[in-house]
Amino acid sequence: MILGGTADARALAAAVQARWPDMRVITSLAGRTATPRLPVGEVQTGGFGGAAGLADYLRAEGVAALIDATHPFAAEMSKSAAEAATIARVPRLVLARPPWQFVQNAAVQHVCSINAAKSALESAGQRIFLAIGRQEVNQFKMLRDRFFLLRFIDPPQSPPDFAQYEVLTGRPGTREDERSILQQFAIDTLVAKNGGSAASRAKVDAALDLGLRVILIDPPDLPPPPHAESIDGALAWLDRL
Ligand code: NAP
Repeated sequence: MILGGTADARALAAAVQARWPDMRVITSLAGRTATPRLPVGEVQTGGFGGAAGLADYLRAEGVAALIDATHPFAAEMSKSAAEAATIARVPRLVLARPPWQFVQNAAVQHVCSINAAKSALESAGQRIFLAIGRQEVNQFKMLRDRFFLLRFIDPPQSPPDFAQYEVLTGRPGTREDERSILQQFAIDTLVAKNGGSAASRAKVDAALDLGLRVILIDPPDLPPPPHAESIDGALAWLDRL
């Protein structure tokens, strides 16, 4: 069973199925997006009701191995997965890309939380691309004198509570696409999460290309080991099992 929500989780499901065609592969999605990109194999959507609920699910489905390939910021799910694996005595692996590194690292301001990003904005930044997903954007709404560009995968159900904003819907684009968006909206500051995935890095590279200020929220600590940093590493772990 793969805990998903990332491109890595989809790639892993495909790689496992290609390597062991008879293996049953279930990917679990949080259900945050209306039209998620679906992996091969079975998909279950929605929470389990905490670690005990996930442990019950693991037992009921006879899960032989659990791979936590969730987004690095989905810390609750990872914590539950570690506990559930212990309760149900199922081997568990964390598949986690290392956070991004940048040649122009001096131009990147690393912060440890959403709150710290908000504080960093208080001193400077007039036109901000707040590219942190949907769940936490409202924490920035008191910065009424700034313009915020927001991007969500799905159109928001109610208008965001910002004084000055524009909403884009859709997924991240190429470095060139992201550069044009930054220019089109005259953005001076990008706030993003250091998620480590190739797909979402383009906006940071684009902002650095344009010499913009970049505030990068570093991920929470990794869940307990074992860890793999690549699909191949995860396949090798499964092979050993
Ligand atoms: P979270 O805080 O770790 O999870 C909250 C609850 O959602 C979990 O306890 C679990 O509910 C359910 N859940 C999360 N991932 C699940 C999965 N793969 N399968 C089944 N249930 C799942 O995660 P979050 O609320 O989704 O997001 C936290 C942060 O991660 C946010 O900053 C968000 O932007 C970022 N993020 C998440 C995803 C994603 O796919 N989840 C993708 C991109 C970014 P139960 O306790 O009921 O089991």
